[in-house]
Amino acid sequence: MISRRHLLRTMSSVPFIGGFLAGGQYTSAVSKATAVARRDYFKELGVRTFINAAGTYTSMSGCLMREEVVEAINYASHQYVNIDDLQDKAGARIAELCRCEAATVTAGAASAITLGTAGVLTGLDSEKAKRIPTDLTGMKSEVILQKSHVIGYAHAIKNCGVKLVEVETAEEMENAINDQTAMMWFFNNNNEVGEVQYEEFLEIAGKHGIPTMIDCAADVPPVENLWKYTEMGFDLVCFSGGKGMRGPQSAGLLLGKKDLIAAARLSAAPRGDTVGRGMKVNKEEVLGMMVAVENFVNRDHEADWKLWESQVQHIADEATSIEGVEAEIHVPPIANHVPSLRLRWDADQLNITTNELREQLRMGHPSIQTVGNNEYVGITTWMMNPKEEKIVAHRIREILTDAQKMKTQEP
Ligand SMILES: *Cc1c(COP(=O)(O)O)cnc(C)c1O
Repeated sequence: MISRRHLLRTMSSVPFIGGFLAGGQYTSAVSKATAVARRDYFKELGVRTFINAAGTYTSMSGCLMREEVVEAINYASHQYVNIDDLQDKAGARIAELCRCEAATVTAGAASAITLGTAGVLTGLDSEKAKRIPTDLTGMKSEVILQKSHVIGYAHAIKNCGVKLVEVETAEEMENAINDQTAMMWFFNNNNEVGEVQYEEFLEIAGKHGIPTMIDCAADVPPVENLWKYTEMGFDLVCFSGGKGMRGPQSAGLLLGKKDLIAAARLSAAPRGDTVGRGMKVNKEEVLGMMVAVENFVNRDHEADWKLWESQVQHIADEATSIEGVEAEIHVPPIANHVPSLRLRWDADQLNITTNELREQLRMGHPSIQTVGNNEYVGITTWMMNPKEEKIVAHRIREILTDAQKMKTQEP
C-alpha cells in the first residue's frame, strides 16, 4: 500500500524522471502508484521543466509547495465552505502564528499591497470600496514613499487610484504630509539604502497619525521576520506566500491592525464590485497558505540552513576544481536571505563566458535555470528538490571541462 505522502513525493518527481526515461514510459513502481501520474501534462504540452537553481522567481513558477500544503489544497478541493467564514478563522490562526492582531490571505504580496492600501482609504465604509480606483471622493489620495524605495511593485499601490509622493530626506517626508496623505509606504529590502530608516519613518508617521505599510514580500527566512515588523510598529505588513514559506504561489499575507485588515477585506473577493475582485483566493489558497505558515513557523530552520549551506558548498567545490573558477558564497541581508553562490572566471582563460555557461545549463538535460549576467553565474539551492545540487554541480563541471577541451583543440 502506497501512502499518500509517498504518492505526492512520487508525483512531484515525475517531470524529473521523465527527463531521463525515453518515450515517457515510467518504471512500474511509478505507473502503478497512480493513474494521475501516468499523464505527463508538461511533456504533453511541450513545456520544459527544469531544476531551479535560481530562486523564487514568478516567471519560473516561484517555489514548490511543501507536501503539507499540497495535502491541504487537495483536502479543501473536495468540500464547500463560506469564503468569509474561512478567511475569518484561517486569518485568526495565521495572526496567532505571526503574533499580530489580524491577518488575511491575499493573492500574493502585490495583492496584499493593493488590498491594504484600499483598506486604508475606505476604513469600514463599503460604499467607498465600490468607488476605488475611479472616484476617491471623501478619501485621501496620496501615499508617501522614499525615492530609493520606488520599485515596480509600488504599482500595486497605484491600483487604488492614489498618487505616489516621492521624497528623500526626513524633512521632505514630514513636509510632504498633508490632509490628503493616506499612507506611508516602506520597502523593507531598501531600509539601509534610504535616508529615512525604520525608527525615524515610524516616528514621523506616528507623530502625524498616518498609517504605515511595509513590503516584506521576499523577507523570510528568518522566521522572526513574520512578527518583527508588526512588533516594530508597522500597521500593515505584506508577505508573499510562494517564496520562502513555500505556500501557494498565488497567495500571500496581509498582516497588521485589526480594523485595517477588516477594511482591506471590504475590497477583496467575494465582494464583486471592488478593486480586489480580480485577486480572488479560494479555499484552496486560503487553507494552503495557513498550512504553509504553520509548517514554516514550526520547521527546523537550523537544519534547513545547514542543508542549503552544504549544497551551495558542494557546487562551489565542484566548480572551483576547475582552475581559474572563483566561488563567492554570500547571504543577502534581507530579501532572499539564504546562502547564495556566485561563480566567476576569466572568459578567455576558460574559453566560455558566464552567460554561455548559463545558456548551456538551460539547454541541457535536465534543464537548469540560474541567475546572473556577464560577470557571474548566480545559484541558490533553497528551491531545489533534494539531491539536485549534485546534478547542477556535475553539469557545471562538465560544461567547463568541455569548454577547455575545445580550447586545446583550437589550432
Ligand atoms: C515578489 C515581490 C512582490 C510580489 O509578490 P507576489 O507574492 O508575487 O505578489 C512584491 N514586492 C517584492 C519586494 C517582491 O519581492
